[in-house]
Amino acid sequence: MFDNLSGRFNEIFQQLRRRGKLSEADVDAVLREVRLALLEADVHYSVVKSFVTRVRERAVGHEVSKALNPAQQVIKIVHEELINTLGEPDRLNLSGPKPRVVMMVGLQGAGKTTATAKLAKILRSQGERVLLVAADPYRPAAVKQLQTLGQQIGVDVYTREGVKPPDLAAQAFDMAQKSGVSAMVIDTAGRSQLDDALMQELQAIARRVPVNETLLTVDSMIGQEALHIAEGFRDSVKLTGLVLTKMDGDSRGGAAISIRSVTGVPIKYLGTGEGLDALESFDPRRLASRILGMGDMIGLIERAEAAFDQQATQDQAQRMLAGQFTLEDFAQQLKQVKKMGPLSQILDMMPGGMGQAARNIDPADAEKQLKRTEAIINSMTVAERKNPDLLNASRRRRIASGSGTDVQDVNRLIKQFRETQRLFKHIKKTGGRGLPRLFG
Ligand code: GDP
Repeated sequence: MFDNLSGRFNEIFQQLRRRGKLSEADVDAVLREVRLALLEADVHYSVVKSFVTRVRERAVGHEVSKALNPAQQVIKIVHEELINTLGEPDRLNLSGPKPRVVMMVGLQGAGKTTATAKLAKILRSQGERVLLVAADPYRPAAVKQLQTLGQQIGVDVYTREGVKPPDLAAQAFDMAQKSGVSAMVIDTAGRSQLDDALMQELQAIARRVPVNETLLTVDSMIGQEALHIAEGFRDSVKLTGLVLTKMDGDSRGGAAISIRSVTGVPIKYLGTGEGLDALESFDPRRLASRILGMGDMIGLIERAEAAFDQQATQDQAQRMLAGQFTLEDFAQQLKQVKKMGPLSQILDMMPGGMGQAARNIDPADAEKQLKRTEAIINSMTVAERKNPDLLNASRRRRIASGSGTDVQDVNRLIKQFRETQRLFKHIKKTGGRGLPRLFG
């Protein structure tokens, strides 16, 4: 899913990660690439344009987060704007008297019948009593297909040979009402192209039964053509939601990104495979992360932000650069890292090159090391933390036994701390030139 687009985004953000600071020109260069990547993925031009404008406004609009480096900030903005473009998640409306009616519409081959069965399966698992209705009398094969699928999921299928779809839907509704069915899903006829006869038939069904939801199934693989089809249906019947199918094969992704903005109809489900379990409720956050191909990088960014106490960090940074960084600050930082979750998870979430480096670290070792460091600092008095010069041999022995570690461990920590202190002094003198970025 979205392989090409994710690959492109990854390349774009890789370049960004090496920057310490982003100028307006950097942001413009990145957005040119983003724009191209989206157009190549077959996202509608108008959607690309407004997307890029919004990201640009925010990225150069000094939306500065102390918790994130510039690359992470841009990734975060792109991710959030992608979510906005994809639209709010919208649940199926199954309120009102029973049986509630879901009408499935779409062109032939879109995956409508498969989606109908998948949806019936979901509804049943939610405790609904479901009836499937085969309202495509023109294609006996379509009726047979729904019957087969109904058997597979253990749901009854209502069929009547030679009965016109509006009558058939009305009869099915009566029967459903009498027999305590709570949700009825109608598989309507599909045609090979948009035509008036099909639309009139759908309108006639909607006049005969009280339809809660009219879901249009569209094949996401057909790119922008999907937008035209959705607009065609939308102009003739009152669509309440979209089911985008074959997302598992959709490496370009343009239809999924554009369709909500262009048609105004919310996406409700995604078909992600041929199996009858392969229907997902639409979740814009998850989809946006997939499109960006950032794994859980986004989750990491969000957690880093939540864990970060901005004021404390600013004060700390000031003291660091003034050469006043103490073991107390060190302990604070450890606490923040811990707030982000287990180290193994954090290491797993690192993208690209960082992830590879992290894979060479055994998370269990790192976790142990972190605990030891914390125990050592906790065993120090406040005065010792503020002024490590006090730490003579006998104090070191006391700390080691108090923290259940060896004197060597204590020595190592103090040495590391001194090195960090020296590094900050150096940064202060040189303004950070020639040094690798420490975080991110
Ligand atoms: P209909 O003519 O719209 O009713 O389409 P069908 O439900 O008969 O589906 C057409 C083909 O697409 C079938 O071979 C399905 O197995 C396949 N299909 C449907 N949904 C998906 C999906 O989400 N992913 C994949 N890979 N195939 C799908």
